[in-house]
Amino acid sequence: MEKQLNRLIDCSMCPNMCKFSCPVYLATGSETFTPQKKARLILYGKKNLLQDEDGFFDTVFQCALCGSCVVNCQYDDFDLRDFIIEERGIAFKKDFVPSLVSDVLENFDKFGNPSGKRETIDKGEGEIGFFVSCNTFNDKNILSATGKILDKADVDVKEFGGGDICCGAPLYFAGDMDGFKEKAEQMEKLIKGKGVKRIITNCPTCIKMMKKHYIEAGVNIEIDIVHTLTFAKELIDEGKLSLKKVENKSITYHDPCILAKDLDILETPRTILKKIGYSLRETAYAGKDAHCCGGKTKVGDRNTRNAIKNMRENELKETKALDYVSACPTCKDVLKSLQMKDIMEIIGDALE
Ligand code: SF4
Ligand code: SF4
Repeated sequence: MEKQLNRLIDCSMCPNMCKFSCPVYLATGSETFTPQKKARLILYGKKNLLQDEDGFFDTVFQCALCGSCVVNCQYDDFDLRDFIIEERGIAFKKDFVPSLVSDVLENFDKFGNPSGKRETIDKGEGEIGFFVSCNTFNDKNILSATGKILDKADVDVKEFGGGDICCGAPLYFAGDMDGFKEKAEQMEKLIKGKGVKRIITNCPTCIKMMKKHYIEAGVNIEIDIVHTLTFAKELIDEGKLSLKKVENKSITYHDPCILAKDLDILETPRTILKKIGYSLRETAYAGKDAHCCGGKTKVGDRNTRNAIKNMRENELKETKALDYVSACPTCKDVLKSLQMKDIMEIIGDALE
């Protein structure tokens, strides 16, 4: 921790060049919201030098937790997001939660999930568990395309999850660490009760929560969890799926932040799209440099969230591709004005 604290000091005095990759800075133009300024404010907080605590808490919610500053940081061992989350935890304990975030938390209080849905899924048998995240459940096209792919490859799965079951990510983003731990323990019980050897899911955020942040909260589900995209690529490579080709179609792939920056899944979607015959048109900011869509529960300010979304939409439109695709139910929903598809839908449509 001392090393991390020293890095926070380094960050607060850094030339701040990573700000040119920070979507909050790029979309709002506010110097206060740049990574280095956030680090400096966090440091002031630790030294009890803050003049305006509410203003400070507001600033720590002006972050998409996208990881662009981590990718472009001059230090390999520093992740500013850890400090931002720590400060959100303090904000939560002091009852500071932006109204945009408190709406989501109210649903958690009442229903235990962000959308207020009550439906659950629990069907099938197999050694592979298909965890239907709450946001996948809300997109029936992704769900049915994934089912079609699994059927075609003759893979038996135990399907579970649904609108009522959430990994707890919105609680983590809001700084409600006790609530998050409770959710992680519920998920651990649910998953271990399924007796599966591997889990697949469409949501990159669920994967990161379960692989990293659950463990930080003291919960280890001990089961391999992979994105459905990775699993589909395995099925293609094993010859269990064959894909027909499209002709004269261009497509732009939007990298979901967590999938690209945290989970390093960059080539797999592109390889699949090329195999289907698409000509890929990359945005100026692609792969680990891709800008965030703004998400739904990470940024605490509506104007900032919309500004990030608009910026990313414009960047994507610049490719003038015929189609747009991503691999995250949240990105697809946020960027819906582009008629974005999920890569499972693209694979599902290409099945022979
Ligand atoms: S996150 Fe890294 S590159 Fe960005 S201001 Fe801090 S130390 Fe500098
Ligand atoms: S995580 Fe993303 S939004 Fe937050 S400070 Fe870093 S680059 Fe900016």
